[in-house]
Amino acid sequence: MPVMASDDFSVHREDCDRFDDGMPISNLPDEVTSIDDLDCECWSEFDSLGEIG
Ligand SMILES: [Zn+2]
Repeated sequence: MPVMASDDFSVHREDCDRFDDGMPISNLPDEVTSIDDLDCECWSEFDSLGEIG
């Protein structure tokens, strides 16, 4: 499940170490329309948003 960081609202995988505290989210924010919008290397193994979930 994706996690939204509470400090900058960036979205990460729950095992990512690039955020200190965050809130699990069941759906990606509407602003995220492609994998490139998830600006963190924790998503690098995904090729498309459809693989996340
Ligand atoms: Zn991350």
